[in-house]
Amino acid sequence: MHEMSLALAVVDQVETAARGRRAPGVLSVRLDVGELAGVVAESLAFCFELACAGTVVEGAELITRTVPGTARCEPCAGDWDVGMPPQLLCPRCGAAAVELVSGRELLIREVRWAGPAAAGGPRRPQPITEEN
Ligand SMILES: [Zn+2]
Repeated sequence: MHEMSLALAVVDQVETAARGRRAPGVLSVRLDVGELAGVVAESLAFCFELACAGTVVEGAELITRTVPGTARCEPCAGDWDVGMPPQLLCPRCGAAAVELVSGRELLIREVRWAGPAAAGGPRRPQPITEEN
């Protein structure tokens, strides 16, 4: 099950990061999921809940953003949204020499930590300056 292994990988990485920064919990995890990555967002959300049970990530909100697939044609330098099902021949010149620019990524874009770390990190004391 594709989504389950992805969810486990995400939870594992967030857990490791949480341990590193001694975060007591995780508020939310923001993911960028490429349209062509073959991931069903609802299925990933379901697997994420299972995967994070009993870990420091438990209760975190999973926010997924779908990144549209885009491709670029080498001969004519045109680019277009690939869509689903993907359009893989250049719509302008019909060339097959196509480079996928985006759409296959799976990225952890942002993690919001619970506890003191959520308050924007360490606060630096404001320097006191005298105005002349
Ligand atoms: Zn073209």
